[in-house]
Amino acid sequence: MSGRVPTRKLGNTGLDVPIIGFGASPLGGIYQEPLDESHAIEAVHEAFNLGINLFDTSPYYGLTRSEKVLGRALKGLPRDKFILATKVGRYGADTFDFSAERVTRSVHESLERLQVGYIDIIQTHDIEFGDIEQVITETLPALQKLREQGLVRYIGITGLPLKIFRSVLDRVGPGVVDTVLSYCHYCLNDTSLESIMPYLKEKGVGVINASILSMGLLTEQGPPSWHPAPEEVKQACKAAAEEAKKAGSNISVLAIKAAVRNPSIHTHLIGFTKPELVRENVATALSPLTPAEEHVLRRVTDILTPVHNNTWPSGRPEN
Ligand code: NAD
Repeated sequence: MSGRVPTRKLGNTGLDVPIIGFGASPLGGIYQEPLDESHAIEAVHEAFNLGINLFDTSPYYGLTRSEKVLGRALKGLPRDKFILATKVGRYGADTFDFSAERVTRSVHESLERLQVGYIDIIQTHDIEFGDIEQVITETLPALQKLREQGLVRYIGITGLPLKIFRSVLDRVGPGVVDTVLSYCHYCLNDTSLESIMPYLKEKGVGVINASILSMGLLTEQGPPSWHPAPEEVKQACKAAAEEAKKAGSNISVLAIKAAVRNPSIHTHLIGFTKPELVRENVATALSPLTPAEEHVLRRVTDILTPVHNNTWPSGRPEN
């Protein structure tokens, strides 16, 4: 393996972000129990050494465990050399609070758990579960205040239904929201994020694409038991993974290589827990699809066509 992960500009933020970011939800132990914390910490260091200096977490992941493990891992690394993103508003599978008071307290709690003096990107987590009006009139202004105090640098929003991004960005002034984090909408089985890319570009926001392995659907080992995809999507992804394997390839490799070649998506978050997976995925991201892989990719795409862009409900029906 040679080389470091290349970077792209994250919208108008001016930040240079690696095309592969470190998704830290697995550090909360949500994919694998028990989590080997020393391996997870090694994975963070390995990532940093290879140029993956964007780390994304949330108080929700492992009910604060991800932030605590990530904080221990980042301790000792030069603070101005990594970009730390976390979230506010989601605290459990069904626990949300987007009030100004709670999100302000949340940032202070995250700073403590992460053992840092500021957060680079603070994101309102899964806003489709909240009242969008409250997000616009209360949550985002509270985060602006924290920005004025120097506790956060950039502000983002995250969620699954793509229309929530427009619901917010249409109604706030320029520079209020710097980034959007979309997940499971730019991967082999779902490319619907493409439909709003011209709009996001026009707004100048940074685009963070999470879950290029569709939260485990596009892996040989398959998704965790809690995965919300409809059964037909799970079956199609399983068949696609088997087809890739039969052809001497690997579905995750195809998924990573196919995703990173789109330059208008600034960074892709992948969940990691082990240093060897970091090395493997970086090597994958750095080498383009071979003609043989292109061929397998076409077969895999055919298998996924009947379920293409099939998603699942998330949040309040009105959002
Ligand atoms: P992912 O699609 O990256 O899948 C992660 C799983 O795939 C983990 O079990 C990981 O060990 C495994 N994996 C990674 N590389 C592999 C490989 N080469 N072969 C086989 N398995 C491999 O999903 P994710 O972790 O959910 O998403 C990435 C990150 O994006 C999260 O950690 C989180 O930071 C962020 N995210 C945010 C939101 C949100 O804000 N609402 C939602 C989803 C994800």
